[in-house]
Amino acid sequence: MVQAYIGLGSNIDHPVDHVTRAFYALDRLPSTRLIGRSALYLSSPHGPPNQPDFINAVAVLATALAPLALLRHLQAIERRHKRVRAPKWGPRTLDLDILIYGKILCHYPQLIIPHPLLQQREFVLLPLGEISPELKVPGNGKVKTLIDRLDRVKKARVNRLP
Ligand code: ATP
Ligand code: CA
Ligand code: CA
Repeated sequence: MVQAYIGLGSNIDHPVDHVTRAFYALDRLPSTRLIGRSALYLSSPHGPPNQPDFINAVAVLATALAPLALLRHLQAIERRHKRVRAPKWGPRTLDLDILIYGKILCHYPQLIIPHPLLQQREFVLLPLGEISPELKVPGNGKVKTLIDRLDRVKKARVNRLP
């Protein structure tokens, strides 16, 4: 079993419900258990302006699925949540990204791990830091070091929900 970190995001059609249901869907994937999860975070959107704030979270899976198989299962969950693929970084019911998969680095046409924008995204790093501050991001530093490098303005764009 490998530990995989998944980034969850939603900003339309009751985002808290989508993200909460997605945790259960991840736990039900074949050869996979949900072994950790962050709180929910409210974050200002990147990408096109004038879209609602996002609910973000991070899940930790223990999985025997290979990276590309895991990606296919995540996309199937997104489809069940009626995800529509447009515009880039626009509003979505559910986004599931593979952030980290064990110690591997991979660069397939359809899958890059660790997620290439992880180190600059406050809405990923802050929930990740809540559950695994000491985790070393393959090819990069510890999560807590990456958080220290984020600027204050960015950090203020994301808030942990009670
Ligand atoms: P971003 O990847 O910048 O967060 P996004 O999540 O909005 O953007 P999507 O439209 O959800 O982008 O996905 C576009 C493609 O990204 C997917 O079809 C998938 O093949 C590819 N992809 C590459 N690396 C990853 C990864 N680590 N996790 C999930 N998808 C990935
Ligand atoms: Ca994404
Ligand atoms: Ca995605």
